[in-house]
Amino acid sequence: MTSVVVHYKELALKGKNRPWFIQLLVRNLKTALAGLHVATVRSVMGRIELELRPDTPWEDVRERLGRIFGIANFSYANRGPHDFKELASEIMTGLGDLAPASFRVSATRSDKRLPFTSPEVEREIGGIIWDAKGWKVDLSHPALTIHIEMLPTGAFYFFGKEPGAGGMPSGTGGRVACLLSGGIDSPVAAYRMMRRGCKVQLIHFHSYPILSRASQEKVREITTLLTRHQLRARLMLVPFGALQQQVVLGVPPELRVVIYRRLMLRIAERLARKGRAGALVTGEVVGQVASQTLENMTAIARATSLEILRPLVGMDKDEIVAEAKKIGTYSISIIPDQDCCTLFTPKHPATRARLEVVERAEIGLPIEEMVTAALDTTVVEDFKFPTPV
Ligand code: ATP
Ligand code: MG
Repeated sequence: MTSVVVHYKELALKGKNRPWFIQLLVRNLKTALAGLHVATVRSVMGRIELELRPDTPWEDVRERLGRIFGIANFSYANRGPHDFKELASEIMTGLGDLAPASFRVSATRSDKRLPFTSPEVEREIGGIIWDAKGWKVDLSHPALTIHIEMLPTGAFYFFGKEPGAGGMPSGTGGRVACLLSGGIDSPVAAYRMMRRGCKVQLIHFHSYPILSRASQEKVREITTLLTRHQLRARLMLVPFGALQQQVVLGVPPELRVVIYRRLMLRIAERLARKGRAGALVTGEVVGQVASQTLENMTAIARATSLEILRPLVGMDKDEIVAEAKKIGTYSISIIPDQDCCTLFTPKHPATRARLEVVERAEIGLPIEEMVTAALDTTVVEDFKFPTPV
């Protein structure tokens, strides 16, 4: 029977957290692979094994595995016996008429009580294959590496490694709520937190019906894409246009953007607390646009007592764009829409809003009522991967 051997990063795993980490990874893999006829997913001595059936579509398995966080690499593998001669012969059968320019055997041993060491396995099996095939041995840059992993119950062998998505298994990092616009930055911020193992809830503010539905369509598409990594995701759509109109009537034009943002954070905080999320996430970057100065970011952050995480804070725009392209959100983000923050914004927003000034400007606004009105009209949408049929 063929298998897939999934390796996670050992370094991240210390002490008591280890079984929990593995258990979550196994559970996530089962969810991600649903419908692909994988026979079993189980943890075996420091790795995870998927047993495939004859009708398991390997290409689909490969694609889905590549998106799951907490995996260092994975390999399409076969199981073989401990006996060196038999194992070498199975490996040679598996290689068919391949004729690599050079090769090496790279072995690991999962249990120190096994009656052979890894170098012995490499030397012995390498020797048998060399005798039979005459291929050149190259220990530093071989054209073919034959990987062997010796387990108490037998061996795994495989010929290549697929890179995993890295990071930590979804669910190991706690819950956070990300403010997701239709722009380039916040989807990357959400992705980065997901990759750290956080369960990320998504909150979008829109100005429909004053503006079009385009931003909502975009965040739905972005959420669908991110759900392929996180497997389950909740998107909260908050109508914001009416609140903006109130802000426009009540505060000086140059403070509008900062006050919009402070309102967003207050609403996001309440949604986050309701969903038991412990922090807010934004795509803010110092100095990226005139409004993202330290002063403005501080004045905005004071509107909430929740921790604000800004995973992109020190990145250059071209680095964020490159990452957005890599994860696939870029092409959605650049679809033109009417962002709610461009609504009623003056040509010259304040770049150094002082907290006292902002707080004074807010005195005339019925903040609590506005927040409650937004919460009452918020629409929740749940996303799943694989999509239920
Ligand atoms: P992005 O590309 O993520 O839109 P940006 O460079 O356009 O970011 P701003 O518009 O200043 O920056 O927004 C800063 C952050 O505020 C965003 O990254 C996002 O986290 C949050 N935000 C802005 N607009 C919205 C919105 N309509 N809904 C939800 N969050 C928003
Ligand atoms: Mg934006």
